[in-house]
Amino acid sequence: MFPTEAPDDQAFRMQVREWLHRNKPELPMPSTETADGVPVHLEWERKLHEGRWAAVSWPDQYGGRDASLWQWLIFEEEYYRAGLPQRVAQNGIFLLAPTLLELGTEDQKERYLQRMAAVNDLWCQGWSEPEAGSDLASLRSRAVRDEEAGGWRLYGQKCWTTRGVYCSHMFGIFRTGTPEERHRGLTYFLIDLKQPEITVRPVARLDGDDGFADVFFDGAFVADADVLGGVGQGWRVAMATAGSERSLSLRSPGRFIASADRLIDQYRSGGAEIRDDQRLRQAVADSWMAARAYKLATDGTVSQLTSGGNLSAEASMSKVYWSELDVALHETALMLRGADAEIDEEWMRGYQFALSGPIYAGTNEIQKNIIAERLLGLPRP
Ligand SMILES: Cc1cc2nc3c(=O)[nH]c(=O)nc-3n(C[C@H](O)[C@H](O)[C@H](O)COP(=O)(O)OP(=O)(O)OC[C@H]3O[C@@H](n4cnc5c(N)ncnc54)[C@H](O)[C@@H]3O)c2cc1C
Repeated sequence: MFPTEAPDDQAFRMQVREWLHRNKPELPMPSTETADGVPVHLEWERKLHEGRWAAVSWPDQYGGRDASLWQWLIFEEEYYRAGLPQRVAQNGIFLLAPTLLELGTEDQKERYLQRMAAVNDLWCQGWSEPEAGSDLASLRSRAVRDEEAGGWRLYGQKCWTTRGVYCSHMFGIFRTGTPEERHRGLTYFLIDLKQPEITVRPVARLDGDDGFADVFFDGAFVADADVLGGVGQGWRVAMATAGSERSLSLRSPGRFIASADRLIDQYRSGGAEIRDDQRLRQAVADSWMAARAYKLATDGTVSQLTSGGNLSAEASMSKVYWSELDVALHETALMLRGADAEIDEEWMRGYQFALSGPIYAGTNEIQKNIIAERLLGLPRP
């Protein structure tokens, strides 16, 4: 069925498929960003963890399966092929964990990875501030040394914190140096949000979800043991996390291939008015090819990584591609739905979220600047 896959990988695929088939929750599930949705997703992800499917590529000792990156891609393909939803634990498992595994201390890995996979802890990302988005190095939230307590006191505000309302922990960047030092004066902290010196305020969204938060710090404590990657090293550590966010870790091809396959099904099962529309036919074919192209490009990335290479500015190309692909797939779906698109809860909500793809994880304009300067060697504007 997958002639180019190694026998071990084919067996792995069948094992994943069978387990998901037997254990799949009732679908569709409510949003991961609502009070109703979070407990339902937690229950499902706990089950994934119990089956040791929560983070297949992690080492066995932290609840993974020591699976290869290729097998992780296979898992993702099967996961989305089964119609399963994005993960409530995604910011921990897909953004923080690769950085923890690479740069964390043994103690940090021991304390956090298992609990993250078991969704005992839910992590959010605390980077953006009201006056520091694209220009992240200008952030002002600060960490002040508390020698006596053996750690740091945090002050300031983070914003746009996805699922911040429901999270127990945050990986955040704070200024430990002077503002003039910009990216050299930052430190990356692992923060317990359940402290009286932290206020989490929900931010209402147009789509009705309430998972966004503003997070205020007024002397919250973080111990030295929870500095990730060293004091003053925050930018380097954050860029490792951004690499995961922009490249294969957060948005694997499986998600887009599943959407493109659904478009093909919708097109095939549509009436004559759909099948006779050349524009629709073309859009569906383009979507399918674009999703396959993303898979091939990702395969190239994995080959590069598994043969000892690393990713740098290439992650920006990946981010621009998947975010534009997601919009195009949803636009095609809405075209196929015609006048019913307005009331198609699933694709319409998906479309609204897809529109934010070119903004989060670093805007596409910024990614294009990175591509221009670092990959193409063009002069700075
Ligand atoms: C759905 C969603 C989820 C998010 N989740 C999180 C989260 O969990 N944690 C977190 O920390 N943040 C989160 N963010 C925030 C996100 O990282 C920022 O919105 C993003 O970095 C842009 O910053 P900004 O909104 O301040 O826009 P600005 O930086 O003010 O940019 C405004 C516009 O100007 C453009 N621009 C700015 N500088 C340049 C330049 N030098 N060259 C060309 N164009 C430029 C930008 O591309 C953009 O179009 C989220 C955002 C969204 C939409």
